[in-house]
Formats: sequence, structure tokens, C-alpha cells
Amino acid sequence: MRIAFIGLGAMGGGMAANQAKAGRQVAAFDLSKEALDRAVSHGCTAAGSVAEAVQGADVVITMLPAGPHVLKVFSEEVLPNAPKTALLIDSSTIDVDTARKVAGLAKAAGFVFADAPVSGGTAAADAGTLAFMVGCEEGEFARIDEVIQPMARAVIRTGDHGAGQAAKICNNMLLAISMIGTCEAFALAERLGLDAQKFFDVASKSSGQCWSMTSYAPVPGLVEAAPSNRGYAGGFATALMLKDLKLAQDAAAKAGATTPMGAQAEALYAMFDRLGYGGKDFSAVIQLLRGKLDELS
Ligand code: NAD
Repeated sequence: MRIAFIGLGAMGGGMAANQAKAGRQVAAFDLSKEALDRAVSHGCTAAGSVAEAVQGADVVITMLPAGPHVLKVFSEEVLPNAPKTALLIDSSTIDVDTARKVAGLAKAAGFVFADAPVSGGTAAADAGTLAFMVGCEEGEFARIDEVIQPMARAVIRTGDHGAGQAAKICNNMLLAISMIGTCEAFALAERLGLDAQKFFDVASKSSGQCWSMTSYAPVPGLVEAAPSNRGYAGGFATALMLKDLKLAQDAAAKAGATTPMGAQAEALYAMFDRLGYGGKDFSAVIQLLRGKLDELS
């Protein structure tokens, strides 16, 4: 299988490497020479442009920053140059409208397209254990699934075009809200003189239980793998969470959905980002709520 992989950054680099590791021929391209060199060191072949990468491709996978990049790369470079038989998969996190627009352009040009954003950070991208949410025509899912497998621990078809992006932003809006709720509960517990471990023991087995509590506890010393134990480094950066919350709020406004807690979460993460903590894991917002920003390096 010949794969053209466009966008070899923090996520795409590991994903392309896993395709090469699975024995597929990967023609890679990125505007960054450094990213391209890294991909070559992981078994990919460097292409000089998107147009060159997609020549003779069976599959084109893109992992780009945002909607405008995806629209431009597909409309100006992929669609005019890829063979019509190529399967097109965009795994970037972008707005639902742009995903549907690109799908429409691809279909009109005779291609099969899927929006397939991912959950899981750079560690999962490197390990090939991402969760994919796929928006595509039902009859196309089996071959899309087969292409994605070397990069994934789970691949779920969530519906037609745009449904992958819809699932991604709904999930991340819920995650942001649950994290803020978890942080507020720990901050209140502290003020009330309640030991964090005791509160964790109760809440992790009671109705307050959620992923933000049991897998990603914002207080250090409770969940070994949580970024709170590493000074909130790594993990899921606040700036990326903010990007997804903006996408969710834009989508809610267009769809006429009422998402007051999502709006609050966006406002809080925007403030935290503006204070200079965009690079910190999103669970670090607990220090803002505790009034202890000085404890963040
Ligand atoms: P990144 O900025 O590290 O990588 C994007 C890459 O795209 C860069 O290397 C850039 O040079 C390249 N690029 C931009 N325009 C290009 C063009 N026209 N042609 C070729 N290459 C181009 O970003 P990332 O962290 O890898 O994220 C990629 C996508 O995945 C984003 O949509 C992000 O929201 C999403 N995502 C990221 C994470 C994460 O933890 N980093 C997790 C899930 C989803």
C-alpha cells in the first residue's frame, strides 16, 4: 500500500512512522525540513511537495494544524494531483463545516473522503494507540479501518461526513467541563480541610467519578500517570484544549445548541492561556482555581 502522509508534526510524525513500521510505502511531506528529516529517519521517503507525495498514492492522510490548512491543501494540492482511486483521510481536528466542505469537494472530484480526527496525545501517536472517530459513507468504512489500524487502538465510525469531527469536539467539550468540575471540587475540599487522598478515595468510587478524576487527577500523588505529578508538563496542552473548545462553541452557535458550561469552560481556558499557561496540561487550571498560580513554574 502506498501512502502519502502530509503534516509530520507532533502527531503526524509518529503516525507516519507507524505506517512505515507496518510495511507500507510512505511518501511524506511537511513544510518543515526538520519534521521531514525525522520522518525519513523512521522509514518514510521524503517528497518535495504535496503534489509529489500524492503521485501514485493509494491513500492520502493529512495531519495539519487547522481547517484553513486542510481546505487549502486538499483543494489546491491533493485533489488536482492525486489519482482518483486514492482514498483521502484527514485526521486533523477541524470544524465540522470545513470537514463537510472538503468532503463535498472530494466527492465532486470523484474521490472517497473521510474525516477521522483522533483522541490521545503524542505518546499515543508514537505508540500507535490513538482512538479514531470516522465520518464517512458506511460502505467505505472497512477499507478506511484497514488503513488506520497501524495507528490505532480503536476505530469507530460515528456517521457520515463531519460526524468524526462532531464526536471529537463534543467529547473534548465534555472533558473540559469535567476537568474544571473536578478541579473545583478538589479546591473546595482543600478549603474545607478535607484531605485530597480521602476525597479521591470517596469520589473515585461515588457518583462524582469521571476520567478527569480517576485517570488524570489534577492533584499530585493520586494517579501515578497524571501530568499533575510532573509539574503539569506534557499531557494535553491548555492551548489545544482551548482550540477544541472554540470549535465546539462555533459549532454550537451555528447549530443552535445551548452549551452554557462549554462557554464557561472556553472562557476559563482562554484566561488561563492568556496568563501564559497555554503550554501546561489542561489539569493545571486547578492552580488558578486554588489561587496558587505561583506554584506553577
Ligand atoms: P503540529 O503543529 O505539531 O504539526 C502540524 C504540521 O503540519 C507541522 O509540522 C507543519 O509544518 C505542517 N504543515 C502546516 N501546513 C502545511 C502544508 N501546507 N503542507 C505540509 N505540511 C504543513 O500539530 P500537531 O500537534 O501534530 O496537531 C495536528 C492536528 O492534530 C491538529 O489539528 C491538532 O488539533 C490535532 N491533535 C493534536 C493532539 C496533540 O496532543 N498534539 C491530539 C489530538 C489531535
